[in-house]
Amino acid sequence: MKHMNDVIIVGGGVIGSSIAYNLAKRGQSVMLLERGRLGMEASAAAAGMLGAQSEMEDTGPLFQWARQSRAMFPQLSEDLNALTGIDIGLVREGLLNVALSDVQEQELRAREKLQRAAGEQAEWLSAAAAAKLEPALSGATRGALYLQGDGQVEAPLLAAAFAQAARVLGAKVQEFAQVQGLLTERGRAVGVMTSEGPLYSDHVVVAAGTWSGQLMAGIGVDLPMYPVKGECFSVLTTKPLLRKTLFTTGCYIVPKAGGRLLVGATVVPNSYDRKVSLAGLAELMDRARLLMPALGEAEWEKAWSGLRPQTTDGLPYIGKVPAYDGLYAACGHYRNGILLSPVTGKVIADFVLGGGEDSFQPELELGLEIGSGTGSEAETQSGSQTFSAMESLLDAFSPDLSGESKRIGRREGNLFSATGKELHSIEAAH
Ligand SMILES: Cc1cc2nc3c(=O)[nH]c(=O)nc-3n(C[C@H](O)[C@H](O)[C@H](O)COP(=O)(O)OP(=O)(O)OC[C@H]3O[C@@H](n4cnc5c(N)ncnc54)[C@H](O)[C@@H]3O)c2cc1C
Repeated sequence: MKHMNDVIIVGGGVIGSSIAYNLAKRGQSVMLLERGRLGMEASAAAAGMLGAQSEMEDTGPLFQWARQSRAMFPQLSEDLNALTGIDIGLVREGLLNVALSDVQEQELRAREKLQRAAGEQAEWLSAAAAAKLEPALSGATRGALYLQGDGQVEAPLLAAAFAQAARVLGAKVQEFAQVQGLLTERGRAVGVMTSEGPLYSDHVVVAAGTWSGQLMAGIGVDLPMYPVKGECFSVLTTKPLLRKTLFTTGCYIVPKAGGRLLVGATVVPNSYDRKVSLAGLAELMDRARLLMPALGEAEWEKAWSGLRPQTTDGLPYIGKVPAYDGLYAACGHYRNGILLSPVTGKVIADFVLGGGEDSFQPELELGLEIGSGTGSEAETQSGSQTFSAMESLLDAFSPDLSGESKRIGRREGNLFSATGKELHSIEAAH
């Protein structure tokens, strides 16, 4: 019997593991192949912020997916805990997007209007009001945009919980299983070639993080991608100094359990080298102490790095690969893969099971809450407008990069971030 599995997923990071969980939950026989240890690449390095509002500078498709995904976390946290006993550490204390300069204040005040118009909670706080919420915040603060909806999780635990839940639901999970190439026959994906030989399936999902483009290139599919190294460090405090995440240009501080503070992150495009550099850390430390001077008193814990999977137009690839039936891409989530993992898992499962678009649009439409919120522009949107908004959301992430592609914001030949800004080392927040 040639087809041993319904679906083979390449890559055991948070994205591949979420897809495995979603498919196993829906009765598919799944094989998840990871070339190293599960969740040890970008997914282990992440700060775990669910920054649907803090990360997005506009309210385009990526924002719509991001808030949909963020809304899935409370239920997901319960479901994963029930299946695996793993607590993913969901914290819903909100985030302060801090202004340390006039320019930042103007940007954040504009963002407040945009977020409110989209029906989200966003409140500009004076420096005094922000300090009242978080007394450890620097006296140099000009004020802060309080985003109550943006939470955080323990990223490595989320990745582990997805993989373990998939296992519990019957998925086969193989570590140290390197996929050397994708197997195709007459315009169809039929499996993968591993170091142990071929494995066959009806569907193949490539969720190999920043290495996905290389696998796709092997069968002539062009998915331009590149790594963006990010370095982080953590410190320990004897008593908790923060409740909310602090986020500003070039730096964030995320309070974790047990008085631990996670500080990130540098931005080094096109580096596959995961060495943590002294220069990167030194600059990060300066920025972090500017944001929260008391950090200087904290005890050093450790430093690490990871490779964010970025695409040339800054949007992830999520969907069917047009050139081959049965082939799907789920990669390029750059700095929001933890946040986007629930929705990506669900959407890819919808594609695999329902053939795609028809099965998933109405459900997402309900979850999206476009049109909710008081006094917002969005409130006036009709159902049919919402439906066509969903169609454009799908188009935006289609891996089809032909001239007909409706992907937005594509600027080939240059390195642009998800927000359309050019990437410079240590310039963006992470
Ligand atoms: C410093 C840093 C901070 C971040 N902070 C946040 C944050 O706060 N919030 C957020 O939402 N996101 C954050 N991110 C982004 C997030 O970590 C990524 O978007 C996400 O982890 C991507 O997941 P992935 O599964 O696609 O990739 P990965 O986690 O890299 O997983 C891909 C997996 O595929 C495997 N693989 C590759 N090739 C093969 C092959 N040929 N065969 C078998 N297996 C293969 C790899 O070994 C790897 O385990 C951060 C990233 C970094 C680096």
